[in-house]
Amino acid sequence: MNILDLFFPKRCVTCGKIGNYFCQSCLFKIEYIKHQVCPVCSENSIDGTTHYKCQKKYSLDGIFALAHFKGPVKNAIHVFKYRLVSDISGYLANLILDNYPSFLPKFDYFIPVPLHGKRMRERGFNQSKLLADQIGRKLDVEVLDNALIRKKATKSQAELEKKERMKNILGAFEWEQKVNLKGKKIGLIDDVSTTFSTVSECCKILKRSGATCVWGIVFAHG
Ligand SMILES: [Zn+2]
Ligand SMILES: [Zn+2]
Repeated sequence: MNILDLFFPKRCVTCGKIGNYFCQSCLFKIEYIKHQVCPVCSENSIDGTTHYKCQKKYSLDGIFALAHFKGPVKNAIHVFKYRLVSDISGYLANLILDNYPSFLPKFDYFIPVPLHGKRMRERGFNQSKLLADQIGRKLDVEVLDNALIRKKATKSQAELEKKERMKNILGAFEWEQKVNLKGKKIGLIDDVSTTFSTVSECCKILKRSGATCVWGIVFAHG
């Protein structure tokens, strides 16, 4: 037990019970995604791989989304993002690791979806990077941070309709040529994704920079 827990005990993000961010009964209410979808057309797809007919030169190879963005998952993301509780990342990362699919390729790097500098300064941490760090440590995959840069401060995707999201995020990212991505397999980590437009745009930049295989790994979808 951490000394801070005495003064600020962890509470269930859903029912408020003291002890953990997910109490046993709320943990049970997490709705895991049973049928993964193609990141391009959002129709069902085995293992979340991009349909052959949907593949373009720079599209994602597939997406693994852990849980639906509702109930305890939605509450956890909210606490993580807006109440700035960074230590919840370990719990979320463990949920991903407990369900990490064996069909995913052995990645060379994990890359977190970056925040814009301004948002980063406001929040003090990038929630996707915290997830990537914990997953990377466990799976022995190097995390590349500050290599994919968010150069455009975009409007919050949550406020936008599906069509506008792609436009909003277009040209928002840039690859700093510090690391050669030629032939590399990348796992792109994001905490929550609704239409996969952000991970898709990141993927485009990584593939243009030489990556051969890019999967999106997102904690929550919906
Ligand atoms: Zn609870
Ligand atoms: Zn498709």
